[in-house]
Amino acid sequence: MNRELHDHPVQYVKGIGPGKARLLARLGIKTVADALWHIPYRYEDRRLNLTIADLRYEALQCVTGKVISAEVVSTPRKRMKIFELVIGDGTGFLRGKWFNQPYMKKLFTPGRMVVLSGVVRRDPFSGGFEMQNPEYEVLDDGRDNIHTSRIVPVYRTTAGLGAKALRAMMYSIVCFAAPAVEEYLPEEVLGRYGLPRLGEACAHVHFPPDGADIDALNRGVSPYHRRLAFEELFLLQAGLAVLKKGRGMERGISFESSGGLARRLDGLLPFRLTGAQQRVFSEICGDMRSPRPMNRLLQGDVGSGKTIVALKSMLVAVEAGYQAALMAPTEILAEQHHMNIRPLAEGLGLRCVLLTGGRRERPLDEIASGGVHIVIGTHALIQEDVRFHRLGLVVIDEQHRFGVMQRAMLRKKGLNPDVLVMTATPIPRTLSLTLYGDLDYSVIDELPPRRRAVITRLFREQEKARLYGFIRDEIKKGRQAYIVYPLIEESEKTPLRSAVPGKEAFEKVFPDLRTGLIHGRMKQDEREAVMESFKRGEIDILVSTTVVEVGVDVPNASLMLVVHAERFGLSQLHQLRGRVGRGPHQSYCFLLAYGKLSDEARRRLDVMVRHTDGFRIAEEDFMIRGPGEFFGTRQSGMPDLKVANLIRDARLLGAARKESFDAVEADPDLSGRPVLRDRVERFWRGKIEIFRTS
Ligand code: ADP
Ligand code: MG
Repeated sequence: MNRELHDHPVQYVKGIGPGKARLLARLGIKTVADALWHIPYRYEDRRLNLTIADLRYEALQCVTGKVISAEVVSTPRKRMKIFELVIGDGTGFLRGKWFNQPYMKKLFTPGRMVVLSGVVRRDPFSGGFEMQNPEYEVLDDGRDNIHTSRIVPVYRTTAGLGAKALRAMMYSIVCFAAPAVEEYLPEEVLGRYGLPRLGEACAHVHFPPDGADIDALNRGVSPYHRRLAFEELFLLQAGLAVLKKGRGMERGISFESSGGLARRLDGLLPFRLTGAQQRVFSEICGDMRSPRPMNRLLQGDVGSGKTIVALKSMLVAVEAGYQAALMAPTEILAEQHHMNIRPLAEGLGLRCVLLTGGRRERPLDEIASGGVHIVIGTHALIQEDVRFHRLGLVVIDEQHRFGVMQRAMLRKKGLNPDVLVMTATPIPRTLSLTLYGDLDYSVIDELPPRRRAVITRLFREQEKARLYGFIRDEIKKGRQAYIVYPLIEESEKTPLRSAVPGKEAFEKVFPDLRTGLIHGRMKQDEREAVMESFKRGEIDILVSTTVVEVGVDVPNASLMLVVHAERFGLSQLHQLRGRVGRGPHQSYCFLLAYGKLSDEARRRLDVMVRHTDGFRIAEEDFMIRGPGEFFGTRQSGMPDLKVANLIRDARLLGAARKESFDAVEADPDLSGRPVLRDRVERFWRGKIEIFRTS
């Protein structure tokens, strides 16, 4: 569609006007483009036009006939007015009934040809054919059939706007706009994937031709749906391609470092890096040495040892005379990283500080003057008042809360450091190509040696005594346990068990053991003190909320009990389980579930018991929840997908990615393809400015 038409208000489409436009606005439809993307959620097959003699009872059928009579009948007992229509086609008669719509009588003067579509029933009195509240259409009024005698679209609608009225409006808009939709994909690309032209897809996804496959339409996989899904995926990927290409052409830092500092770190570690860790580190070093800015995604399952790789990368930056920052999504995780990294940094003679929103002392001057080499913090790091002396590398830990948008924010600050994004929650490939499609990709696909898979078991409330026995046995062996609750304190609103009373209860069950408590409402130094003493083994059982979800690293802890496991999502459970199994000891994850479980909860718990591989769990999660929620588009800053489905359309995504990346490779800012450029810009509007100079 050309630009003007795209923004054309539906109000000015023939047959719409201000009143109808107000109704459409309630569905979020303001422009012609909005309307074209208001896709039917199902289709009804009203193609079959039978003679009355051929009708069957209890089936949805469509019949054409001549109006024989049209009467409003009153039923005194039910105080209802029934409009009764009788049509005939020479083979028999069919009665249509509508309740409380006496005004319909005037539409059906005897002799007019009409089409009725509905479920045929046996008239209880006459035994003849009857339809109650059928869809109807008067044929001889010179208009096209849109409600009957065809495959009919059914739209999501809103109060005050009937299905039929909306369909009629959509028909006007589609007839007006679809023929003007411009195609920008070359014929050969369309041919390669068997896709119709965009204009045809827009027309037919709303009003399919008679020969269309109704089943494919209803599953959203008709050729028209596929062209529209391709459209979304192509524009999405094209935007990412432009971002990536644009950054690739920028000048970044070419770190000059012999790697000596990173090698000295190896000497301080009690273990050797795995092959996968070494491979990924050398990929990162390659990026850092190159004059282009690094933008790399590092994926690795929980416990695969991403932190050390990040630290070594930071040392490369520091050795070259730059500062490095590590950004975590929560304060507690930032605190943990600081606790782990600072001693190592200090062992190398470097200064490492913690900077979070909740901290009183803020070593801002030292950061600005360059006295600090490594800064660890939360998103407070990228806030206005933090100035760096010479920031060279930013490591962003624990992915999805730092989407494309947040990364764009860093750049807005005028910083152009190398960026390494680490994800702890593995995500399916299709999703990472989307969320992180503008990044290069590395994966640590190997766990440190001598890790034994965590044994996971589901317990119900009745089995608590056995569970407690097990906890006691583990602690007798010298291990430690986490007990995680969904809430901090009891609340009026939910009957859920919670951490504060939970801790008291466990103190009674285990009076001889040392219990500790940690949650997000505690002060930072209290939290740090508790974590420290848990690390030193002075606490046997740490009762907590999900603040320990990510990153916390205490290798001697071998038992994770999740209370109300049915309330947690899969990635959360996987993260929680990742807190154990970090040392040489066999570890256990116990999921304690209460009450009657929903199907979804049962599926989630089952996935946890059966699988330990994070990538597999992510895929199951994606299947159970569907892409919408998993994606968390609002949070991630990604545009919505209306037709494409990242599970179903994985292959189409691959195709769209290849084609769009090729297009951008040939023409980095798409200036030679104005229609495509315009559409990419629109698709990303309100999220990210894809083309920064124009
Ligand atoms: P994650 O990838 O989940 O962030 P971490 O970086 O926290 O994992 O590492 C998990 C644990 O494994 C830490 O205790 C870390 O010291 C340890 N570790 C990391 N790499 C290795 C290795 N190559 N061999 C043994 N232990 C390792
Ligand atoms: Mg980590």
